[in-house]
Amino acid sequence: MTIPAVFFGHGSPMNALENNEYTEMWSNFGARIETPRAILAISAHWYVAETAVTAMARPPTIHDFGGFPEELFDMQYRAPGSPELAAQVAELLSPLPVRQDTNSWGLDHGTWSVLTHVFPQAQIPVVQISLDGTKPFAHHLSVGTALAPLMDDGVLVLGSGNVVHNLRAISFGADSQGAPWAERFDQATTALLKSNPSDIASLQSHPDYAMAVPTEDHFLPLVVFAGIAAATRQPVEVLGGGCTMGALSMTSYSVS
Ligand code: ZN
Repeated sequence: MTIPAVFFGHGSPMNALENNEYTEMWSNFGARIETPRAILAISAHWYVAETAVTAMARPPTIHDFGGFPEELFDMQYRAPGSPELAAQVAELLSPLPVRQDTNSWGLDHGTWSVLTHVFPQAQIPVVQISLDGTKPFAHHLSVGTALAPLMDDGVLVLGSGNVVHNLRAISFGADSQGAPWAERFDQATTALLKSNPSDIASLQSHPDYAMAVPTEDHFLPLVVFAGIAAATRQPVEVLGGGCTMGALSMTSYSVS
């Protein structure tokens, strides 16, 4: 069985509690794919100086944010872990050192705010893999390429970030649109993923890159996804999303 790989724009942690066009896109995806045996999640919010995987049998739900209602802090996503998948990831990425983390991380909101809609029952084992912020795009692209075989092994590889993520430029009045630079960068990213995902680093010289990607954390999960897409040589599909609040893109992609 081949499981699609997916990248979801995640936006506000509040999406965990809400039902809107984005959460509907997430739950529709979960309902239409074959049930994976496990999930490998790449969240923008585990952005460190190493490659690590959560290797505990029961990964804790991490509330890595402040200033949100108590209800969000009370949320738990009680999916089991998979030390087996964590070890398999290390094998696939060898000789890159992959630390088997048993006590520092767990499932952060980049993962659970989305998964609580994709698989509300939390019955599928989840492993998170970190982003190494000291490494360039080319590294994350090759991580994606190395992880691509998991698709044929019943594992859902799920990236969670945002194509455009500039919190300083967010405008809460600007509902369902992006600023012109955000729309341009979002469209350029989609065009590139559809034509030549292995060239995703070329977006770093796009004139709107600095505004759209002021820090790399939310974009890097998409770079890993691009590496997977390049390895499959299959067309990338846009699941939906688009720009919102001026400076955020919820655009989401899958590849089968
Ligand atoms: Zn985020």
